[in-house]
Amino acid sequence: MSVIGSLIFCTDCGNLLRESTGDANAILHCNVCGTRNKDTIPQTIISESKPSSFPSALRAKRSAVQTLSAEDRKTEAVIKETCEKCGRKEMFYTTVQLRSADEGSTVFYRCVCGFKKTSNN
Ligand SMILES: [Zn+2]
Ligand SMILES: [Zn+2]
Repeated sequence: MSVIGSLIFCTDCGNLLRESTGDANAILHCNVCGTRNKDTIPQTIISESKPSSFPSALRAKRSAVQTLSAEDRKTEAVIKETCEKCGRKEMFYTTVQLRSADEGSTVFYRCVCGFKKTSNN
């Protein structure tokens, strides 16, 4: 537990919990890492600041950034392409520019049966 002024930080991840309630029996629950921290009534103001005591809260949030799955792509179109699994004559396809413009693009094919394939132009 670090007490700086009346602000209380999580002992495990440095997340700012909230201001002290003034109740020594209160439990402050960290919503970043889940650690339960006891409230403390700040008796003294600690003026010394320790940047190293604010570690990875931001980093932890950044790692939770969502990645798009193939199903999230909204630009699917239908092409006359035969599915190798079920023989359907039409498949959905999406074109993705993976590298620089002069290196062509990758086409993702998807069938309603679940079959998927890619091809590089
Ligand atoms: Zn925490
Ligand atoms: Zn199919």
